[in-house]
Amino acid sequence: MNRPLAVFWIAAVLLLLVPTAAGRLLLDLAGGVLLALLALPLILSGFGWIGWKILQSRMISCTACGATGLKGAAVCAVCGTPYANAGDTPASSAAPSTPASDLTIDVVAQDVDSES
Ligand SMILES: [Zn+2]
Repeated sequence: MNRPLAVFWIAAVLLLLVPTAAGRLLLDLAGGVLLALLALPLILSGFGWIGWKILQSRMISCTACGATGLKGAAVCAVCGTPYANAGDTPASSAAPSTPASDLTIDVVAQDVDSES
C-alpha cells in the first residue's frame, strides 16, 4: 500500500530535478497554483475591505445609544431616537431642497476709522 506512493514521490522528485519539459511544466504549474493561493486571500480581503467601506458609508450611528443603522431609516431601530443628525450629513445637504442663498452668510463691509 505504501510502496506505490513512494514510487510516485520518487518519480515526482526526479521529474522536478531532471530538467525536462514535463518537469518545467510541473514547476510552472506549481508556481502558478502557489501564486494563486497566495494572491487569492489578498484579493478577497481587498474586496472585503471595499465592501465593508461601502457598507460603512451607508450606515449611521445613533447619537443616543451608538447603535448603527441604515441611512434611510428615520428612527433608531434599537432605542427609537429619531436620526436628527442624518439630515446634516454632506450627502443629504447637497439635495436641491435648500437654496444656496439660505446657506450663505452675507458680509457687510464697515468703515472702522470713521467711528473712532
Ligand atoms: Zn439608538
